[in-house]
Amino acid sequence: MDIIRLLPDMVANQIAAGEVIQRPASAVKELMENAIDAGADDITVVLKDAGKTLLQVTDNGCGMTATDARLCFERHATSKIREANDLFAIRTMGFRGEALASIASIAQVELKTRRREDEVGTQILIEGSVIKSEEACQCNFGTSILVKNIFFNVPARRNFLKAESTELGYVIEEFQRVALVNPDLAFSLHHNGKQVYKLEPGNSRQRIIAVFGNNYSQKLVQVETQTNIVNISGFIGKPEFAKRTRGDQYFFANNRFIKHPYLHHAVVNAFHDLLPDNAFPTYFLFLDVDPKTIDINIHPTKTEVKFEDEKSLYAIIRSAVKQTLGKFSLTPSLDFDIEKSMDFPEMKTGETVKVPQVKINPYFNPFEKDNGGFTPKESYRNPARQGLEQWGKLYPQEDETAPVPTPVQTDELFPQSTIHSSLDETPAESAGPKYFQVNTRYILTQLKTGLMVIHQQYAHERIIFERTMQRQKAENRNIQQLLFPQTITFSSADAGLFSSILTDVCATGFDIADIGGGSFIVNGIPTDFGDNNLQIILEQVLESYKNNLQNMEGNNRSRLAAAFARQMAVKPGKYLNEEEMRSMVELLFACAVPDKTPDGKKIINIISYEEMSKTFK
Ligand code: ADP
Ligand code: MG
Repeated sequence: MDIIRLLPDMVANQIAAGEVIQRPASAVKELMENAIDAGADDITVVLKDAGKTLLQVTDNGCGMTATDARLCFERHATSKIREANDLFAIRTMGFRGEALASIASIAQVELKTRRREDEVGTQILIEGSVIKSEEACQCNFGTSILVKNIFFNVPARRNFLKAESTELGYVIEEFQRVALVNPDLAFSLHHNGKQVYKLEPGNSRQRIIAVFGNNYSQKLVQVETQTNIVNISGFIGKPEFAKRTRGDQYFFANNRFIKHPYLHHAVVNAFHDLLPDNAFPTYFLFLDVDPKTIDINIHPTKTEVKFEDEKSLYAIIRSAVKQTLGKFSLTPSLDFDIEKSMDFPEMKTGETVKVPQVKINPYFNPFEKDNGGFTPKESYRNPARQGLEQWGKLYPQEDETAPVPTPVQTDELFPQSTIHSSLDETPAESAGPKYFQVNTRYILTQLKTGLMVIHQQYAHERIIFERTMQRQKAENRNIQQLLFPQTITFSSADAGLFSSILTDVCATGFDIADIGGGSFIVNGIPTDFGDNNLQIILEQVLESYKNNLQNMEGNNRSRLAAAFARQMAVKPGKYLNEEEMRSMVELLFACAVPDKTPDGKKIINIISYEEMSKTFK
């Protein structure tokens, strides 16, 4: 008996849908791309419950005839290619003829469409691939596709969808990608009756700013290169604005957002030494290549593509980015890796030698901003580090009112003896364990059983996290009212998110009010905030918070506290003196959970003497 059977269309479509449509965001992407292919210049996206209940894309494009309206839901129905050869000249977004068939197989879909030249339009209702009704209707020219109850008939997939905020994040991401690459078109996005984006036509730079917020205008520099393999245009972010989270990395090839780890590496490589540790470069690069030299058909969602000559592309991109960095002389002042010990003071001719002083400050409090008189030289104060540098002032209760102690001076005459005295003269107060900082990252100390290695940043994160959580519970939040309230601005997507967690942000020790239009007014800050740049820190906090949404258990407040802690914590590269290390360790062990960061990273490592002795065998 023959056992091979052809799958019914409905099943085939559902299987295909699994590849093309994974979540509401993928449906939004496909529908927006169809609208663009239809020549629309004004595209509206409406969502309810992050698209889980309803999503709708309306355009003013070419519309469809009644016959096309019916056909468009068939699998492999496309107006965009006719023969295999056309695959090598694709300039449209879609071409596989799968999206509408897939969407119609897993949702309840209402299509309304009319060509400008037709008197009446067509309305079709289709549900799980079955056409429920088809009639003439009055409607605007263009096309509107409404998708209700996505995955209503595939419970496994519906259950697989994440929390609303997460799904909304995915939709916004797709929306942004499409909007970024089509700055000449108008877009708007609405969620649960609220407008999230309204983007007017403009140039590429204006679009980026409209999407990500005003503060991007000063962060970006332009890239422009033309070769016979590829034309590159776009922007890169100045290194000092590099973020510590992934996100602002955009490659577009022939007007399509793509992911390409190999080419990403070319950009990272060009930035090379200019970025602080763990920071990611920002870039928006638009590549234009001959359609013959790119294969966009290797993956159903078409975000992974293959270029014919990736090696050359790599080299061209790297050199384009390098050139831009050089041209805007973004390089010289960026000495991230200068070791503190290399920071010798310069001596001018005629200057008399000052008596070297040994500064020992018995009252030294590492959590006070004035760092015992050790001020790094200007060159060391990198703008990217500024703000993160003033980590000290986090614990005002710890003696904020104590007078600034004058350094103890000893009358040593020769620098050498200074060195000796600071080495030999173990200060009397440090009778306890000794601490060493290595690699400006780790604090080492000796235990009975082995060597304890503490990750300085993670330790500090834990300390600030617990402090912040306590503050959230406290009646008196220690808010410091600002004499001159500051306005901060977010992109509309971020503004929406920020607004939705504003109460929790305030519980963290801020006094902030939403004044609309993506702007917020900051009236008060936590007393331990120091003179950090509000806009930058809050942006980074929001960025980490978004990450925490996906990667961290707990509620909004703990996620926020963790995000805040991450931004305020000392970073690798920060020199700590013995007193600072001691306080850090003491505060760490006063924490409820001293061994893990809020998001579960290990803070402490103990290398036992036993293990150590084994390494000598
Ligand atoms: P593809 O985009 O790969 O061709 P789709 O399933 O996304 O496949 O769409 C099928 C066809 O339906 C398209 O080729 C196009 O002719 C038509 N179509 C889809 N959306 C629209 C729209 N918004 N306006 C006009 N025609 C559309
Ligand atoms: Mg399509």
